[in-house]
Amino acid sequence: MWHLYCNMPIPCNKLRGGKAMEEKMVTLTIDGETVKAKKGTTILEAAKNAGIDIPTLCFLKDINEVGDCRMCIVEVEGRRGFATSCIQTVEEGMVVHTHTPNVLEARRTVLDLIISNHAKDCLTCTRSGNCELQTLATKFNVLHVEYPGEMTKHKIDDKSPALVRDFNKCILCRRCVATCKNVQGIGAIDCINRGFESCISTVGDHSLNDVNCTFCGQCIESCPTGALHEKETIKEAWAKLKDPDTFVVAQTAPSIRVALGEEFGMDIGTNVEGKMITALKRMGFDKVFDTNTGADFTIMEEATEFVERFKNNDNLPMMTSCCPGWVRYIEENYPEELSHLSSCKSPHQMFGALIKSYYAKKENIDPSKIYVISIMPCVAKKFEAIRPEMQNNGLYDVDNVITTRELARMIKQANIEFTKLDDSKFDNPMGEATGAGAIFGTTGGVMEAALRTAEDLLTGKTLERINFEEVRGGKGIKKATINIAGKEIKVVAASGLKNARTILEEIKSGKADYQFVEIMACPGGCIMGGGQPIKNSKIHSEVNVRKLRADSLYSIDEKSTIRKSHENPVLQKIYKEYLGNPGGDLAHKFLHTHYQKREKYNI
Ligand code: SF4
Ligand code: SF4
Ligand code: SF4
Repeated sequence: MWHLYCNMPIPCNKLRGGKAMEEKMVTLTIDGETVKAKKGTTILEAAKNAGIDIPTLCFLKDINEVGDCRMCIVEVEGRRGFATSCIQTVEEGMVVHTHTPNVLEARRTVLDLIISNHAKDCLTCTRSGNCELQTLATKFNVLHVEYPGEMTKHKIDDKSPALVRDFNKCILCRRCVATCKNVQGIGAIDCINRGFESCISTVGDHSLNDVNCTFCGQCIESCPTGALHEKETIKEAWAKLKDPDTFVVAQTAPSIRVALGEEFGMDIGTNVEGKMITALKRMGFDKVFDTNTGADFTIMEEATEFVERFKNNDNLPMMTSCCPGWVRYIEENYPEELSHLSSCKSPHQMFGALIKSYYAKKENIDPSKIYVISIMPCVAKKFEAIRPEMQNNGLYDVDNVITTRELARMIKQANIEFTKLDDSKFDNPMGEATGAGAIFGTTGGVMEAALRTAEDLLTGKTLERINFEEVRGGKGIKKATINIAGKEIKVVAASGLKNARTILEEIKSGKADYQFVEIMACPGGCIMGGGQPIKNSKIHSEVNVRKLRADSLYSIDEKSTIRKSHENPVLQKIYKEYLGNPGGDLAHKFLHTHYQKREKYNI
C-alpha cells in the first residue's frame, strides 16, 4: 500500500496488533540513547517516554493512531524505507534514528505536498497561532510553496448555528472522523471520494446541520487546523456592547474560569475567575453574572423533580437534560425514551429567563432591552439558545452564545493584557453561587450536586455528607448505588455519546434498573467541551487536560462556604420573592421546557 501524499510505503497497521500489550520489556536505541520500553509500545511512545520528540500530524493519542500522514517517520537500521513511528512497535535491539537527513527531507516533502493543496490564509484563520500545520511549517522552515498547482475547491458549510466546516483547510488527517465515529459513536462524517477528490463529508454531502450531527464540537477539538470551528458570533456581541440603548449582561459557565487562562499562556486548569470578570467589565458589559448560580437553580428544580418521581416510582430513570448535545442526540436517536428526560432547562437558559423576568422587574429594566450573552464551553449551546421553546413572552432567554475561545479572541481584540488584570467579583444580586454549581462543569458533577440536594429533600434534614466520590473521576461510565434514608438509589453518570448509547441500550433492554442518569455529550463533561481552548496532540499525549480542569472545579467547590444548591441565599430569596415553590407554576413557566422527536438521518 502506498501513501497518498509522499508515495512511500505504508506499513501494515496490523504490525501493532490488537492483542493486549505484554509487560515484557525490550531494549532499543533511539538517537544513540539506550531506551527500555514495554513490548508492544510504539516507537513514538517509547521516544516520548525517553524525552525524544517526533513530530506528528494525523496522530491523536488513543483516538487516531493510523499512520496516515507520515510526519512521524523514522529510520530503523537494517530496514528498507521508513518506519511510521506511531504504529510501528519497538523490538529488542532495534536501532532508531528520528532525524537523519533522509527523514527530514521526507517529512519536508510530506509538508510541501499538504501545503500545496491547503488554503494559505493564515492571517485570517481562526486557528492562526494554534494550528499544528502552521507550527510544523515554521519548524521545517517552509518559506515558499514548493508545489504550486491546482487546488481542490470546497464550498464552506456554515448552515448550522453551531459549527463551520471549511475543507479548503482540511489536510485529510481523519482525526475528526475517528472522534465522531469512535469516541462519540455518531459517524456523521467520513472520508469520501478518491485521490485528488478525497474529502471529509457527510452522506449525500449535506450540511452538518441536516444530518445526525449533535453539535457536540468534539471534532473541532480534534482538528489540527482551521478546517473546523465554531460559528462565530463575536461581531453581534461587540455591536450590542456599543449600543447605549442595550443593557448587555454576561453570564459565564462553570468551566470557562478553569480554561480561559490557557488562551493566554497560563497553566491548564488555572482558575481565572477574578481576571475574567475584570476583563468582561472592561469590555463594557453592564453586568457580569455567574451561571453557577443558574446551575444552583437547575439543581433545585431537578432534585425536586427527581424526588417526586422517585417517591412515586414515576417514569424512572430520570435523565439529566442540561447538555444540548445529549438532548439533540436522544431526540434524534431514541425519541421513545424522551419522557425520561428531566424537563429542566440547562443552567444558562434558566438564568437567562430569570435575568429577563425577575431581574428586569427588580431593576425596572425593559426586558426587551436586555441582551444576554452566555459564555459557554460549548458549541451545542449556540443551537440550544435558538430552539423556539427557549422563549418567554416573545423573548429568547439567551440572545447570544460565545465560546471560551471566542471570549479569548474578544479580550485580545480589546487589547486587554489578561494576565496582568486584577480580580473582580460577580455582580449581585445574581452572582452568589455554591460549590455544587461549580462542579456542574465536570462529568458526575451534575449528579453529585443533585444528590446533595435530593438527600436533604428526601430526609427532611441537613445532612453532613457533601461528597459523593462514587460519581467522580474520568471514567466514561460511573455506576453507583447510593443509600439515602435507608433506600437504595441506583445512579450512573456517563460522558461521551458512545457511552450514552451503551446506557440507553442497557435501559431499553431491561438489563439495568437505574433511577437517576447523568449524561454529558463531551467526554469528561463541559470542561472538555467543543468550545474550550484547543490543545494540540502533543499536549494530549503528555498531560491529562480533563483532570487538571476538573481538579480546579473540585477545588472551587472545596473552598466554597456553601456547597449545597438549596442553601444558596440568592436562590432562596428569588424563590421567596418571585418564583414560589420549586417545581411550582412560575418555576415551570421560566425554568422548564419540553423536547421533540427529530427526523433521524442514518449514515
Ligand atoms: S459536532 Fe460532534 S457529532 Fe457533529 S460531526 Fe463533530 S464530532 Fe460528530
Ligand atoms: S477537518 Fe480537520 S480533523 Fe478532519 S480531516 Fe480535515 S484537518 Fe483533519
Ligand atoms: S457536555 Fe457540556 S460542552 Fe459538551 S455538548 Fe454538553 S453542555 Fe456542551
